[in-house]
Amino acid sequence: MNLNQPVTYVKGVSVARAELLYSELGIRTCNDLLHLFPFRYIDKTQFYTIKQLQQSSAEVQIVGKITNVQTVKQKRGSRLVATFSDATGSMELVWFKGVKWIKDSLKLNTPYVIYGKLNWFNGVANMPHPELELVSEYKKKLQTAMQPVYPSTEKLANKGVSQKIMRSMLQHLLQQAFSGIQDPFPAYFLDQHKLLGKKESILNIHYPKNQELLAKAQYRLKFEELFFIQLQLLMKKLINKSKNRGFVFEHVGEHFNHFYKNILPFDLTNAQKRVLKEVRKDVGSGAQMNRLLQGDVGSGKTIVGLLSMLLAIDNGYQATIVAPTEILATQHYNGITELLAGTSVKVDLLTGSTKTKKRREIHSGLEEGSLHILIGTHAILEDKVQFQNLGLAIIDEQHRFGVAQRRKLWDKNKNIPPHILVMTATPIPRTLAMSLYGDLDISVIDELPPGRKEVKTVHRYDSNRLSVFKFIRDEIAKGRQIYIVYPLIQESASMDYKDLMDGYESISREFPSPKYQISIVHGQMKPEDKDHEMDRFIKGETQIMVATTVIEVGVNVPNASVMIIESAQRFGLSQLHQLRGRVGRGAEQSYCILLTSYELSSDAKTRLKTMVDTSDGFKIAEVDLKLRGPGNIMGTQQSGVLNLKIADVVKDSPILYQARQAAIALLNTDPGLNLPENSSILNRYQLLQRKSGVWSNIS
Ligand code: ADP
Ligand code: MG
Repeated sequence: MNLNQPVTYVKGVSVARAELLYSELGIRTCNDLLHLFPFRYIDKTQFYTIKQLQQSSAEVQIVGKITNVQTVKQKRGSRLVATFSDATGSMELVWFKGVKWIKDSLKLNTPYVIYGKLNWFNGVANMPHPELELVSEYKKKLQTAMQPVYPSTEKLANKGVSQKIMRSMLQHLLQQAFSGIQDPFPAYFLDQHKLLGKKESILNIHYPKNQELLAKAQYRLKFEELFFIQLQLLMKKLINKSKNRGFVFEHVGEHFNHFYKNILPFDLTNAQKRVLKEVRKDVGSGAQMNRLLQGDVGSGKTIVGLLSMLLAIDNGYQATIVAPTEILATQHYNGITELLAGTSVKVDLLTGSTKTKKRREIHSGLEEGSLHILIGTHAILEDKVQFQNLGLAIIDEQHRFGVAQRRKLWDKNKNIPPHILVMTATPIPRTLAMSLYGDLDISVIDELPPGRKEVKTVHRYDSNRLSVFKFIRDEIAKGRQIYIVYPLIQESASMDYKDLMDGYESISREFPSPKYQISIVHGQMKPEDKDHEMDRFIKGETQIMVATTVIEVGVNVPNASVMIIESAQRFGLSQLHQLRGRVGRGAEQSYCILLTSYELSSDAKTRLKTMVDTSDGFKIAEVDLKLRGPGNIMGTQQSGVLNLKIADVVKDSPILYQARQAAIALLNTDPGLNLPENSSILNRYQLLQRKSGVWSNIS
């Protein structure tokens, strides 16, 4: 049987069922169905009598007969109640859905095996929506100690595609199609990596002979799934490297050396030096650099970026930094012009609010090549902005940027794309980075500049507010500045907005002018007003900044030493971490106070505790990944790590690692997969390439 045929070829699968399988589970072909893997197994070797049932029994299996069936009218619709008896007693079986369909199918006084969860009411057990099967049928089946439970949906169950039906479909399919199952891994490869063959794995994943074989089957199928993802990513990287020629920055010149020796106000950390070396190696290689630079807030990514830009200029190229907000772009501009004052490097700023006259000046400076570094926002991406020879583009805080925008930077040059350095303060756990960005090169700054004091973080309840206010007053008296941040979640924006305004009012009462000055910044303000308020805070004219999360990204006010987060339970971990990163930037001891009500979910407790316990962004990211799963982590939405059928990028990270190593080793010996013994791997790879456009989204 050809496994690419639609599931209607399987005995017992009608057109209607096939449609349901497709709309509910995305299953179209026999092969899809074969790869619908059970998510758990239940032990059906144990039988109970009705008398033996106990309140604690979770899922039980009983043999008995249905002696009576009746439909009971209720407020909405009706329910079906059957009396089920064995030699020791009787109990009720209940259905709330599919009543008519089920009623017609039940046979009275005929032995059934029933299976399901018990419901207890006044000390009497009943079983809602049991799985049931005639004993005569049950005996015919391929019996196994472990019965598979398949992923399903309410709709499938309601339309009569029960677990029992799923099992029987798979059983038929296995009988019809077993011989047609092909292994993408050749025998030598199975041997080398100690993997179970495909046929045996498929058989044992659906009908495990024993625990050991089940474990081997699961390992093999997870390995296969992860291996092919890695193979695609690595191939893409190889192809990019050979296809995308890059400018060669041959020498380290005057600008770089002068800056390094005479201007750089501190020693680079070892991590910064290492990353700089990695960048230099890339830009000297002749291939285009596509590097992701991860480093916690405050780890000093900007300087690495600046030094890389000087390298570009030394080799006759221009460079640019694109930041997600005007505030950030302006900060970069101010910082960098200050550092480069007195050198011959020309720097300018382009944002949405740059005036036309200035804009013209910038355009011509770029085209003539007299402007070396352009810093700005999305405005830089516009087609009007043309460089003479853009050699390096830096994107700050990458998660605010879409793929299309990155593409625009590539296209700034006609023939050879500029080198790309993407900087992010959102740490991506290693395991996830491997599956998401396996085709990018990744650098990590995992070390903070010396002398940085850890931000003291505490969790306080709303009822401690008065002492928090006193603390604020004391810190302001010492000359410090304070952030107070309110959540703003899209879905409840208007309520959140009210919270923010109420909060602002009560803060204003508590900290009256003229002694205290307060800034407020939120998303509903005009950009000019936002910048104005922000500016007053940056200049130290206001002591308190009341804000929503607009301040999350990158803002640098070293004198601000206290971060107060209201309703902290509503923020995600990475957001809390980002917010905390706004303080601890100066020489003073900084503080982060997480305010919450008493009622907290267990996840919220974990988040708060994690924040109090650690300031390591990577540890925080790992916890975040465990709490939320990969689907909710920034940037994963489109990436395919979500569509895994059996592996889990978090739990199966050791297998992921092995699969990646195996793919690397394979490509080392056979980069084009041209060897005859690897033809089955090549076939699978090509099939996946045809199927998925997903991977093209990534870099
Ligand atoms: P981020 O990685 O969050 O973008 P920045 O690049 O803004 O961090 O750096 C944060 C601060 O640390 C800046 O004021 C910068 O000048 C300073 N800094 C960077 N590297 C070092 C270093 N090696 N030693 C001391 N200070 C440093
Ligand atoms: Mg930064």
